[in-house]
Amino acid sequence: MTPSPLVLGLLAALATPLVAAEPARAQPELPIGGGRIAMEFTGPTPDAGDDALRTWTVRAAEAVSDYYGRYPVPRLHLEVEIDDGERVHGGHERDGNTIEICVGRHVTPDMLASDWRLTHEMIHLAFPDLDRSELWMEEGLATYLEPIARVRVGQIDAERVWGDLVDGLPKGLPERGDRGLDRTHTWGRTYWGGALFWLLADIEIRERSHGERSLRDALRAILDAGGDNSQPWKVDRVIAVADAAAGAPVLDGLYRRLALAPGREDLEALWRKLGVRVEEGRVAYDDRAPDAKLRVAITAR
Ligand SMILES: [Zn+2]
Repeated sequence: MTPSPLVLGLLAALATPLVAAEPARAQPELPIGGGRIAMEFTGPTPDAGDDALRTWTVRAAEAVSDYYGRYPVPRLHLEVEIDDGERVHGGHERDGNTIEICVGRHVTPDMLASDWRLTHEMIHLAFPDLDRSELWMEEGLATYLEPIARVRVGQIDAERVWGDLVDGLPKGLPERGDRGLDRTHTWGRTYWGGALFWLLADIEIRERSHGERSLRDALRAILDAGGDNSQPWKVDRVIAVADAAAGAPVLDGLYRRLALAPGREDLEALWRKLGVRVEEGRVAYDDRAPDAKLRVAITAR
């Protein structure tokens, strides 16, 4: 039986929320690093106040601007949805100009100060939009760079950076049947396998240039060539621009070894070379390790 128009009308009324959606609260635009951030908060005012969300945004933007020498895009639209939880969650960047992220109304200023998600999303702004098969390159970069950008401005300490890498990178190693980063799209390979690619790139650029250059030069060159996330690029162009700035075919070699093939990597040997070890949950350093100076430079301000 087909419902009568009256029944249909009643059903439509029941499906309509009793309380209309709250209007978004537009915030004054934040000028930062030569760019501007237009914020919009939807939902209840958090316990810590809207000011706490602005402070959180400024911290993330400062870390990213410091690394790149400027805010990566001229204007970001930041949409913050406040829900009933107590943490920052979700997070999605799109088109190189918009970030959506959720924050619980009971979040504390301390939790906002230790949040990594907004910095992660902002790093996506500074890198071109690649083909799906190279998602690992975008996610791996945000995974590697988020703590590096934050440690450089004093938001976290170096022990946290190395401790998390020692803990996380094994999740990015190839397992049986792996076909390289371009063709093995698991969570571990995408985020941590990609992060390992960028850590190895940072180390090799520093080694080959005797500390004169770093991954930062390569990434700034990509951004200066217009490669923000609104721009679709082919991976060959990323490699060419980065390697020209690095002064050596570093990404080219790593891409062949880790993306087109499984590329086994001995992490224990890497930590020995950098002089990092974790003992009883604490990070300890060996300053006589061959690359100890390089390790210090990676997290230095
Ligand atoms: Zn991401």
